[in-house]
Amino acid sequence: MSILVFIDAADGHVKKSSFEALTYGAQLAKQLGTSAEAVLLGTVSDDVAALGKYGVTKIHQVSSDTLAHVDAQVYAKAIADVATANAASVIVLSHNLTGKAVAPRLSARLKAGLVAGAVGLPDTSNGFVVKKGVFSSKAFAFISVNTPVKILSISPNSFQTIAGEGTAEVVAANITVETPKVKVTSTNMVTGEVPLSEADIVVSGGRGLKGPENWGMVEELAKLLGAATACSRPVADEHWRPHHEHVGQTGGSIAPNLYIAIGISGAIQHLAGVNRSKVIVVINKDPEAPFFKAADYGIVGDAFEIVPKMIQEVKKLKGVA
Ligand SMILES: Cc1cc2nc3c(=O)[nH]c(=O)nc-3n(C[C@H](O)[C@H](O)[C@H](O)COP(=O)(O)OP(=O)(O)OC[C@H]3O[C@@H](n4cnc5c(N)ncnc54)[C@H](O)[C@@H]3O)c2cc1C
Repeated sequence: MSILVFIDAADGHVKKSSFEALTYGAQLAKQLGTSAEAVLLGTVSDDVAALGKYGVTKIHQVSSDTLAHVDAQVYAKAIADVATANAASVIVLSHNLTGKAVAPRLSARLKAGLVAGAVGLPDTSNGFVVKKGVFSSKAFAFISVNTPVKILSISPNSFQTIAGEGTAEVVAANITVETPKVKVTSTNMVTGEVPLSEADIVVSGGRGLKGPENWGMVEELAKLLGAATACSRPVADEHWRPHHEHVGQTGGSIAPNLYIAIGISGAIQHLAGVNRSKVIVVINKDPEAPFFKAADYGIVGDAFEIVPKMIQEVKKLKGVA
């Protein structure tokens, strides 16, 4: 049984979530007494061999201009071909936007059982049983995968990245890349901001902020902390903030190390998108706000008094005026 990890990259760089997937693959290989290899589609400016520090021994690289844009069908075929050529029996991906689009297609191609959003290493003592969150992570399901090839997409921030020493052997994968059926005619990138899905810290605002004119303090705090900004759904619905910032059941699902929620009630639909954050700080003037139940730290008070004070304190800590 051998493990193949998909290395996700964008804009010439390997995504942080891939380090977690590589570590997961390496740990699983150790558990199964085998080795972990990886597949990289396209080219990156990062040192590919150095990814061996996460425990993979070999990286199969498919260098083709066709792979510069993510096309889930083309990616699924390329990963399937590399997996088949190398007799991989477990394929590991990140459960991010690319992974969510590619994993089911890969599963259909390889007739492989898929666990989407795994949160721990499989129990292999009697079969292959994988834990995943269900009902917006309010409960866990244990899925037994019985197919010869198994696919796991790993929930972000659910597995600790371990970087050691060592490099991986990088080899060119000898496969034919399909021509995409979808043609990308233009790309409109959001620039100058920390991407929400990759952010370590997120500062988020809700309807308690009263209107778009009050977002200056949210943006200032986010900038000082090197954080991305997010918002609750009504805030995006009312066009106070762009829709790509909306998190929750019907918006983005994030798992930063720190989530600061300002003037957000903490409705279950909002929590569904943020409850995997490592540390949650809630600022709300209502001590009964449901968000306090999910908070690691809570500040009961008026955001218009508290956030400017936080900004001053962060500035002092950073030594900026
Ligand atoms: C099917 C469905 C899907 C949904 N999907 C989502 C989703 O993906 N994401 C999402 O966010 N919501 C979603 N919702 C909406 C969700 O149910 C809530 O209505 C929404 O999250 C509330 O947003 P809010 O907390 O910003 O606003 P409110 O509920 O109005 O809460 C505002 C909060 O701010 C506090 N506040 C007011 N003034 C201040 C102040 N000066 N200082 C500090 N605190 C203050 C209040 O005490 C209150 O707790 C969905 C709803 C449905 C039915």
